[in-house]
Parts: sequence; structure tokens; C-alpha cells
Amino acid sequence: MAYVIDKDACTNCGACASECPVSAISEGNGFHVINPDVCIDCGACESVCPADAISAG
Ligand code: SF4
Ligand code: SF4
Repeated sequence: MAYVIDKDACTNCGACASECPVSAISEGNGFHVINPDVCIDCGACESVCPADAISAG
């Protein structure tokens, strides 16, 4: 299971994308998105999100 971003909670700050070791996170239309095929479930993004928008899927 990949981690997921709640698009309504995401403020599009980009902190998660900078933290991801496998570049699984990209910018969408006003929010960020995790590619489930690339995410290795490390949890690094969840811990840096200031909006608590990321959770384990
Ligand atoms: S760190 Fe959180 S608020 Fe910032 S872009 Fe990522 S999911 Fe959105
Ligand atoms: S859980 Fe790890 S691998 Fe998956 S998107 Fe977050 S930082 Fe990247």
C-alpha cells in the first residue's frame, strides 16, 4: 500500500516532494500527488507535512 495525500488538506507547499527518496511525489493541479507504483512506503513524507495531509493508504 502506498501513502496517499488528501488533496483537500494539501496546501501544495512541496515539502513532501523534497523529502521523498524515490521521487514518487509530483505537483498536481493545486495539490501534490503520490504515485503508488513508485512509493516504497517509507513514511518520510508523512512526517514532514505541515498540514497532516498524508497518511498510509
Ligand atoms: S507536504 Fe503536505 S501540504 Fe505540503 S505539498 Fe506535501 S502533502 Fe501538500
Ligand atoms: S512514503 Fe516515502 S516513498 Fe512514499 S511518497 Fe512518501 S516519502 Fe515517497
